[in-house]
Amino acid sequence: GSSSVLPPEARRLEGKVALITGGASGIGASTARLFSKNGAKVVIADLQDEMGHSLCKELNPECTTFVHCDVTKETDVENAVNCAVSTYGKLDIMYNNAGIIGVKKTSILDNTQDDFEQVIKVNLLGPFLGTKHAARVMIPARKGCIINTASICSVIGGALSHGYTSAKHGVHGLVKNTAVELGKYGIRVNCVSPYVVPTPAARDIFEPDANGVPPTIYSNLKGKNVTPEDIADAALFLASDDSKYVSGHNLLVDGGYTAL
Ligand code: NAD
Repeated sequence: GSSSVLPPEARRLEGKVALITGGASGIGASTARLFSKNGAKVVIADLQDEMGHSLCKELNPECTTFVHCDVTKETDVENAVNCAVSTYGKLDIMYNNAGIIGVKKTSILDNTQDDFEQVIKVNLLGPFLGTKHAARVMIPARKGCIINTASICSVIGGALSHGYTSAKHGVHGLVKNTAVELGKYGIRVNCVSPYVVPTPAARDIFEPDANGVPPTIYSNLKGKNVTPEDIADAALFLASDDSKYVSGHNLLVDGGYTAL
């Protein structure tokens, strides 16, 4: 399987167990591939069962497990964490990545309570529950690493909906609070904040024009579009010992967009 592509000495996560929510698609799936290539056992937790199972087959069924999980349901998140521990004996890396965009950018007058609540539930309550249940097993182990996918919307306004921006700002708040609390147990907590990445979630933004030409969404690194693999690389940094003194941080992977 692809978990043996790199020689053991080059694998950054050899012997580690990682759980990735929203791991069946997009950034989560790219990260599952990269973590697996780097020697980790990976549990993919997602709503999309078929895609999750086929990714496990593609990677290496012996080192990869799928578990159905709705991150807005505490019993599902609890079960996903327990699945990692019962299958592979422990949980080293929790990646709270599942997210939805909800409605597109809209006036506060048109943004509905339903949309706001749903986006907050998946994008903020989800990371809260994931962090809580990861901490439940990481505190006794006196080590662990928790990563969340936020967004450039964690530091700027005006790009997407009110719910999305509020949730993503909130993710960094949660990261700071838990980094402060959990540091004494050797647990690091961080988030990675992507620019617009071509995944199913951002489908609308990448829709081809009337002539079938796909748009080019540069940040300010002209000529370079960000890929899901770029985000996976940042997640690997945060998951590995390369970042062993990094905690409470929001790692922007945006080509300098928010620096403007
Ligand atoms: P994606 O749609 O390809 O993947 C998201 C995955 O999350 C899907 O597999 C989906 O089934 C899963 N999911 C959705 N709701 C869930 C729930 N309640 N429980 C469990 N799983 C659920 O999108 P993506 O772009 O890879 O998104 C991953 C993360 O990246 C999200 O948090 C998103 O907000 C963030 N993000 C994306 C972009 C972008 O431009 N694509 C930019 C910044 C941040």
